[in-house]
Amino acid sequence: MTREYPKVKVDNYCKASLDVKRCYLPIDVTDICSKCNNVIAISLDDHYLSYPVIGMAEPVSFYCDNCHNEWDVDIIISLGVSLAEKVQDE
Ligand SMILES: [Zn+2]
Repeated sequence: MTREYPKVKVDNYCKASLDVKRCYLPIDVTDICSKCNNVIAISLDDHYLSYPVIGMAEPVSFYCDNCHNEWDVDIIISLGVSLAEKVQDE
């Protein structure tokens, strides 16, 4: 029995630079200050990434107002694309 595969497919793996000077994302990155345990959230909607590369580490800078500690946390942006389901005509 021959198995049929879909003729249209999407390759989900991507490692490419986004050509966006100021890339804002509706995502919060939260970490805890190692010196005073203050919880700090960085909104990527306010703090943009400059020309981020999908699949590569991007540093997000943290600053603690409590104790003036500064540090970076690396994040990785992934991009997913899938085929939309066909809508049946009625
Ligand atoms: Zn702190």
